[in-house]
Amino acid sequence: MAVVATAHWHPLDDGRVQCDVCPRNCRLHEGQRGFCFVRERRNDRIVLTTYGKSAGFCVDPIEKKPLNHFLPGSAVLSFGTAGCNLGCRFCQNWDISKSREIDTLAAAAGPEELAAAAERLGCRSVAFTYNDPVIFMEYAMDVADACRERGIKAVAVSAGYMNPAPREEFYRHIDAANIDLKAFSERFYEKVTFARLDAVLETLEHLRTTDVWFEVTTLLIPGQNDGDEELHRQCEWLLEHLGPDVPLHFSAFHPDFKMRDIPPTPPETLSRARRIAHDAGLRFVYTGNVHDQGGQTTACPGCGAAAIVRDWYDLLDYGLTDDGRCRHCGYAMPGVFDGPAGTWGRRRLPVKIG
Ligand code: SF4
Repeated sequence: MAVVATAHWHPLDDGRVQCDVCPRNCRLHEGQRGFCFVRERRNDRIVLTTYGKSAGFCVDPIEKKPLNHFLPGSAVLSFGTAGCNLGCRFCQNWDISKSREIDTLAAAAGPEELAAAAERLGCRSVAFTYNDPVIFMEYAMDVADACRERGIKAVAVSAGYMNPAPREEFYRHIDAANIDLKAFSERFYEKVTFARLDAVLETLEHLRTTDVWFEVTTLLIPGQNDGDEELHRQCEWLLEHLGPDVPLHFSAFHPDFKMRDIPPTPPETLSRARRIAHDAGLRFVYTGNVHDQGGQTTACPGCGAAAIVRDWYDLLDYGLTDDGRCRHCGYAMPGVFDGPAGTWGRRRLPVKIG
């Protein structure tokens, strides 16, 4: 069942067929694959060639996605497929998606099988991650639907590079998302990711109109996207367009893929970015990929108490009620809270399914 029909494409006058899923709008001759490599023109239609195929499965902490306001402490069944519709020179998942551990687990699993496995493993959600679910949206939506029937939620970790019609369809099936906002300049997007910033901002604005809980992550790369002026502009845009409650994660870069000549992000850069975001008026700003208890703690906007204390992916203290209110002052924390905090911890457990 690896090859399935898709809906978002149209024929062009010049004989090519255009895939309409993402702003690349790949125009394909018969037998050609798109930039993402997993969508292909076959018999004058665009098909997805990786339905039900995964690069491997792991149970992760939800904080790793990262989502800090979505079922804290819970386990999430994470998986990805192959390919991507961005071309980031600094891809941080390259080692994960190509690692031996994942390779040996390469497996095929249908939506029902996956949902059942998530339930069996005690996961409260499944996450489409490691690579961007935009390119395997048909598979991701079916998995999400199968999960919903069992009370398990679906999480998309995405760069948000998607066209409006497929975006609307896709997010109707999704409960939570983390959108990678890779920088706040078109120049960076063009040169380093081979994509466009404006399309990603449109996705963020669209999400604001939905019930999807979403958080934003920016990987800070020294000298590339970490200047004060750019960070100011980014935070002001987020505040104006998404409001003060959208959680923002600044995570640390480590040299990878085609960007091995740039040093890792100094912890001071993360703290500086966090300060700028707070000063702009964003209320939930976190550092990531480092040990930084202060930068990873959620403060209650009502009374200032430490509502959730974290160290990397570990929850050290939890001061919310089962429905997400501050135990000190009753303030309703923005996010999705349902029951006590999970106890998964920081473990990463590779699992075999299918
Ligand atoms: S989803 Fe893939 S084939 Fe379709 S436009 Fe984007 S990169 Fe091209």
